[in-house]
Amino acid sequence: MSDSYLSKISELHELLGIPASFREECSMPLCHTPAQLVATEPDYYGRPQQLTPEAFAAWSDMKAAAARDGVVIHLISAYRDPDYQCQIFKRKLDAGEPLAAILRVNAAPGYSEHHTGRAIDLGTLDCPALETEFEKTPAFAWLSEHAGTFGFALSYPRDNAHGIGYEPWHWCFMS
Ligand SMILES: [Zn+2]
Repeated sequence: MSDSYLSKISELHELLGIPASFREECSMPLCHTPAQLVATEPDYYGRPQQLTPEAFAAWSDMKAAAARDGVVIHLISAYRDPDYQCQIFKRKLDAGEPLAAILRVNAAPGYSEHHTGRAIDLGTLDCPALETEFEKTPAFAWLSEHAGTFGFALSYPRDNAHGIGYEPWHWCFMS
């Protein structure tokens, strides 16, 4: 199964012009899609979203606990499959963005933690989505203190080892 997944990812990369050397040198682990996904509540934009059953249960508990503390956190994005990630790249390439520039802000298909069904992008009131200033919100302060209790961790803190930009909004269910 792992071999067929890797060949699927290689096909998508070929389609986008990402060379094989990228997969050999990538410091990020290949992220596999889960066996099971369940529908969550619609995201902030009303789009359907999915997570693994365990991640969804933990996210629901965490959101409810935050609400009891008067803190609003909402879902901006959850599971994304490699084809979806490929479409993001295609749109940007078609718009004339160089591949290297896209790879600096978007994980290549196969390497996004969102493929696992355990990663969530979160937002809150009065803060633009997916911006660093999320770190200044009460929601981020609450998450920093309590997310670990629910099994969530910040995947890309400042100066992380993966060389990925700081993403205070991106949390992953680890256990
Ligand atoms: Zn994310």
